[in-house]
Amino acid sequence: ETADTGGPTIFDKIIAKQIPSNIVYEDEKVLAFRDINPQAPVHVLVIPKLRDGLTGLDKAEPRHAEILGQLLYAAKVVAEKEGVADGFRVVINNGEEGCQSVYHLHVHVLGGRQMKWPPG
Ligand code: 5GP
Repeated sequence: ETADTGGPTIFDKIIAKQIPSNIVYEDEKVLAFRDINPQAPVHVLVIPKLRDGLTGLDKAEPRHAEILGQLLYAAKVVAEKEGVADGFRVVINNGEEGCQSVYHLHVHVLGGRQMKWPPG
């Protein structure tokens, strides 16, 4: 997908465990699993189990503040679990120009190699 249709995404099936994923962290609100096409030795996606309109960060409303905080906190927990807490990157791609391909908000946690700045 390259556009925000608001329809279901592949992540719904991952949440429902209809398709397998490599889960590294899970709680009531958040699921974190390994990216199928890793861009670093550690590449984990952290997503809200309930999308609740959050196809992308651009759709964030005040009511999403709590889950947004939970996602970021979970990203830190994932970095610790993966042993990269001393050096990692958190990315949210938004929209076509931001290279977003799945329209269910997700935080990329990348680590295990030297990052470059600015990103491409
Ligand atoms: P985006 O480009 O939207 O920021 O990130 C979407 C990410 O989801 C990509 O890095 C892509 O590799 C990952 N992805 C897409 N489909 C699947 C899948 O079925 N399983 C897993 N684990 N990752 C996926």
